[in-house]
Amino acid sequence: MSRCAIGVGSNLGDRAAHVRAAIRGLRAVSAIVGVSSLYESAPVGGPDQGPYLNAVVLIDTARPPMSLLRDLLLIERARGRTREAKWGPRTLDLDLLLYDRLSLDLPQLTVPHPQIRYRRFVLDPLLEVWPDATMPDGSAIEPAAGAVAEQVLQRLEEEPGGAEPTRT
Ligand code: ATP
Ligand code: CA
Ligand code: CA
Repeated sequence: MSRCAIGVGSNLGDRAAHVRAAIRGLRAVSAIVGVSSLYESAPVGGPDQGPYLNAVVLIDTARPPMSLLRDLLLIERARGRTREAKWGPRTLDLDLLLYDRLSLDLPQLTVPHPQIRYRRFVLDPLLEVWPDATMPDGSAIEPAAGAVAEQVLQRLEEEPGGAEPTRT
């Protein structure tokens, strides 16, 4: 079994429903061992678009990395994910952030996800749910210098499994 962190994001349609569906989809292929709080973030990069709901889900999985990536893309597709503008609005985005301490650089899959240290909406929920997560070289996961200080992120009160979130 391998412990993996999956980054979940949504900013189109019923965002909370997409996040809940992502958790159900992950449960169908792996054991869920942790789910972060829901967070709301201002978009970083890409065209003008609405705010995101974000979470990180920890799983223990027997799936090899490429197979897990295919599962993630299928779960996205089931929620109507399309790809138009780079970093454009999306119903559901599932990124493989960490796969144990594996380091992979394939044409379709880079692990750890190269943007982890540059995104507060990834770092905060990841460290909430997996405080001792490390990079493949064993180093702690820390924000890249100067990268995340100005990124707007708010932790919401409701669990992602619950009803529509309310703000704290
Ligand atoms: P970003 O990767 O910067 O967060 P994005 O999530 O908007 O951007 P997508 O359009 O969802 O990018 O993904 C494009 C491709 O990225 C996927 O089809 C997949 O093959 C590839 N990819 C590479 N590494 C990963 C990873 N760690 N997790 C998910 N997809 C990855
Ligand atoms: Ca992404
Ligand atoms: Ca993605």
